[in-house]
Amino acid sequence: MRIAGDWLEHPGTQGLCAALEAAGYHALLVGGCVRNALLGRPVADLDLATDATPEAVTRIAEAAGFRVVPTGLDHGTVTVIARHRPHEVTTFRRDVETFGRHATVAFASDVAEDAARRDFTMNALYADARGEVIDPLGGLPDLLAGHVRFVGDAETRIREDYLRILRFFRFHAHYGHPEDGIDAEGLAACAANSAGLETLSRERVGAEMKKLLTAPNPAPAVAAMDRAGILARVLPGADPRGLAPLVHLEGDVPPDALRRLAALGGQDPADRLRLSGKEADTLARLRAGLESGDTPAVLGWRLGVDRARDVLLLRAAVLQGPYRPHSEEIARGAAAQFPVRSADLMPALQGPALGARLRALQEDWLASDLTLSRAELLGRV
Ligand code: ATP
Ligand code: MG
Repeated sequence: MRIAGDWLEHPGTQGLCAALEAAGYHALLVGGCVRNALLGRPVADLDLATDATPEAVTRIAEAAGFRVVPTGLDHGTVTVIARHRPHEVTTFRRDVETFGRHATVAFASDVAEDAARRDFTMNALYADARGEVIDPLGGLPDLLAGHVRFVGDAETRIREDYLRILRFFRFHAHYGHPEDGIDAEGLAACAANSAGLETLSRERVGAEMKKLLTAPNPAPAVAAMDRAGILARVLPGADPRGLAPLVHLEGDVPPDALRRLAALGGQDPADRLRLSGKEADTLARLRAGLESGDTPAVLGWRLGVDRARDVLLLRAAVLQGPYRPHSEEIARGAAAQFPVRSADLMPALQGPALGARLRALQEDWLASDLTLSRAELLGRV
């Protein structure tokens, strides 16, 4: 089995692998790049595994003229920037002792041992610089079947690192086949160990959830999380029932984590998932729109075209109504400007009274579905 692609021909990647091989070491691509190349999906970041120690990788890469950043020396990882392209290079390793997610690692010059400490069989696929695939654990058939399977005993692997619970559902969302269903042993192990999620930082939980919700269709994975009691741990009060209808209604609208999160609801998602201020604001506005009686034009004025569309999708999905895009009304609102200016009310009104009157007129204007003219509004003063 061979993989190919422009990404593999990149002179930085080829140069780095050639330098390691010339020094007598192995250099293997691993993880997402191999997995995605096998599926014909775009390849984003590059991970390499090698039997060279981080010190040797650093020496060899620098001698080849590449910049090396010691990004994760504890885990045996350095980042080599070769011809502007970053490569995360990790020395083959096996866990000799584990304590939470901090593994004391000893180096082992064996791909099989390296594979054994990765999370899922589909993530333990390797390829050399020529694209020749090495599959020590039978990850390829699992990948092609859309089967996310833990490497080794699922419970043991989860207890080493509880983030693997969320990665399980995330990879199922992106690579699982709906007809195949989620791996039963993995699901049971996640359910039995869900309390361990409390040990994870909210940043990491939030980052995983956002990646999961950006899958083309995350609804089956989220439904499985709900059944396993994981969703309630991550986001108490969340209701997964609106998600599948939302994804269905979205059609060609690109996936968006905040829109999907708004469909789930739940208590204080911004805090539970440590959203940025901007994300929290967008989510709050989507929820407010969903719960409001605002017309499509008012939503367009308040939120802009895309987020107003999102609110109509959310209303149809969560409140189980029909979906009508109302695109012209949304566009009318998005283009509208409240026609009264402070100067129109001065000098008769000043200070707080001016502000209060402007707000009252704006409410009148919104209640008219943005139809009252400047003259009509000023006539009310
Ligand atoms: P993507 O980058 O598309 O999210 P990926 O598979 O490359 O997917 P990374 O998080 O970049 O995921 O990790 C690279 C590889 O490292 C994984 O494919 C997996 O083999 C291993 N890995 C990452 N995180 C863990 C973990 N928590 N436990 C075990 N192995 C892991
Ligand atoms: Mg990756």
